Amino acid sequence: MKTLILRSMAEVKKALESSDSRNINFIPTMGNLHDGHFELIRKAKKNKNINLVSIYVNPLQFNDIKDLDNYPRSLDKDLKNLTELGVSMVYLPEKAFNLNNTSTIQLGEIANKLCGKNRKGHFEGVATIILKFLLLIKPGQIYLGEKDFQQILVIKKIIKDFNFDLEVKTIPIIRGPGGIAFSSRNQRIKNINNLKKVYDCLCKIKIKIVEDNFYMKDLEYFEDNLIKSGVCKVNYLEILRESDLAELTSVPSKCRIFISCNIQGVNVIDNLSLKKVCFKEGGRLMTSS
Ligand code: AMP
Repeated sequence: MKTLILRSMAEVKKALESSDSRNINFIPTMGNLHDGHFELIRKAKKNKNINLVSIYVNPLQFNDIKDLDNYPRSLDKDLKNLTELGVSMVYLPEKAFNLNNTSTIQLGEIANKLCGKNRKGHFEGVATIILKFLLLIKPGQIYLGEKDFQQILVIKKIIKDFNFDLEVKTIPIIRGPGGIAFSSRNQRIKNINNLKKVYDCLCKIKIKIVEDNFYMKDLEYFEDNLIKSGVCKVNYLEILRESDLAELTSVPSKCRIFISCNIQGVNVIDNLSLKKVCFKEGGRLMTSS
């Protein structure tokens, strides 16, 4: 079937008017699509529902206008790829979708951690636009990648708090050569070796944890190493509980290593699941099977 390109809210409503929500998969993106996005789409396609992909560089989630202007866009190539993948509908919101929007969502604690610390209002901007999408599209499933792990928690929170009947489907991070997580922004980084070193750092921390040889203060050493070797400016490097991004305690829980850094002016985020359940004993991180 031909891929439908939708631009106005009226077109979206009309295209979906006779569809049951349960048969609608929604895959939100900001475009400049890569293998991470394609994997989300491949997963969505498995259930034979309508697949609606949005491409929208959401201005509300940028607190730096230069970052918004520099965000890489490649609409023609994206549309060609989405057509080849057999996506049912692509929604490219027009200005009216978010014109003079002054209402925003309050999210509480979850939005103040990790990326929320130095990107004030970022997750409120994400949540506001996702809420608009959900009200318009009324999907039964939303597809999200673990690359933006905190974003998944934020979206799950609005789904729960606003009583949406919506299933969240996730995929692990899709990585390319050297373990680099695919990202739309990567093409702006000339020295991809620095990206590899960020992933290496996560792997080295994980190895030490799995060997029960990791102390929380070691995070400073790893952070210093990245900075001193000129790899990047580190915004954060933390190990937190997966369910709510709380600090680790003596209670065993699933946890993850999170990093955000700035390489050549480009914001890079990554994370690595520890798979094992962890707890803190003194300053040491222990795993339990
Ligand atoms: P974005 O276009 O960056 O807003 O991402 C749209 C969706 O694709 C989000 O759910 C991201 O988490 C997901 N995504 C982006 N990059 C990757 C990746 N390398 N692996 C898995 N999912 C990804």
